Amino acid sequence: MKKTYKYRLLGNKGIFNRADNWLNLCRRLYNAGLEQRMSVYRQNKSHISCYDQMKQLPDLKDGFPEYSEVGSQVLQDVLERLDKAYQGFFRRIKNGNGKAGFPRFRGKDRYDSFTLKQSGWKLDGKHLAIAKVGKFKLRLSRPIEGNIKTITVRREATGKWYVCFSCDNVSEKKLPKSDRVVGIDVGIKSFLVDSEGNKIDNPQHLRQSERLLRRRQRTLCRRIKSSHGRCKARLLVAKAHEKVANQRNDFLHKAANHYVANYGVICIEDLNIKGMVRNHNLAKSISDTSWGKFFVLLTYKAEEAGRKVVKVPRFEPTSKMCSACGAINQDLTLNDRQWICKSCGTLHDRDYNSAKNVCRVGQTLQELTYENAQSVS
Ligand SMILES: [Zn+2]
Repeated sequence: MKKTYKYRLLGNKGIFNRADNWLNLCRRLYNAGLEQRMSVYRQNKSHISCYDQMKQLPDLKDGFPEYSEVGSQVLQDVLERLDKAYQGFFRRIKNGNGKAGFPRFRGKDRYDSFTLKQSGWKLDGKHLAIAKVGKFKLRLSRPIEGNIKTITVRREATGKWYVCFSCDNVSEKKLPKSDRVVGIDVGIKSFLVDSEGNKIDNPQHLRQSERLLRRRQRTLCRRIKSSHGRCKARLLVAKAHEKVANQRNDFLHKAANHYVANYGVICIEDLNIKGMVRNHNLAKSISDTSWGKFFVLLTYKAEEAGRKVVKVPRFEPTSKMCSACGAINQDLTLNDRQWICKSCGTLHDRDYNSAKNVCRVGQTLQELTYENAQSVS
């Protein structure tokens, strides 16, 4: 299994200045590589490959000695990223995407990470040494497992630095088998409601930080372009963003862990997250993003633990069907938080009832796939 571990990097000013300098050199190389690709195409309608560009790196170091300070793998990675940007562009053209988005030149502050592969760095306890940059101190919140394939050092908008270790061969942590099945529905008021009647709300501190973020974003919009005040406002927005993201991550991890730890099969409504995020209502889009992230976390945590996540296709009557007798109560509106089934008289909480439906449908789907698998083998 693959896994990425992210840690905060600490160090003195000098080391971050050198890392900043690397980013700047990488950015210049990226732009030069892009310029070269464009001019080769302009002159003879042909393409220069990533490999050919890499072969020119020694010449670059002769002409611009400052590049000898940067690890060769880091420079190769810059050209690989450029190549990926090109491939993405051609793929989008081929797929007939209206806005193919030609690779762009990167302005100052628009290049914020560099990547190393097997060499040029060393991890020693709580220290990460990168050749020609120096020794960072790591805030090692959890141990790294598996084999480290690449490391990426990143400067975030808040000015804080992080490192990501991408590992493979991370051993899975299977949990003991569980027969418990649960259905989860997106609550309208709560973050989610499950088929056992539990509600999980967005934590209060997260809502507070989201309000702070919105306030700061409004301030930023009012500041005059390229003024000092705007610069300051942008940093404040970045800091609020980071806080919201951290608190939200924490909350989502805990919620996902809870379901993976307690249930063998987790049924969840398959929402069209992408379509929803385009919504321009900010508060709405924040909750949709959370939901999408929750879904991703739940899926990979379940996989790691040997648990199942069943996506239940969205179907109209989820909220209108009575989970007790199956009757569909057509005339319900979004405002009916509670309702009484006309056919059997059961009193329902809207979200709880939907969760029970998701659970039942998910269980049926799960049994069908299981039977299919049996009859194939
Ligand atoms: Zn009923």
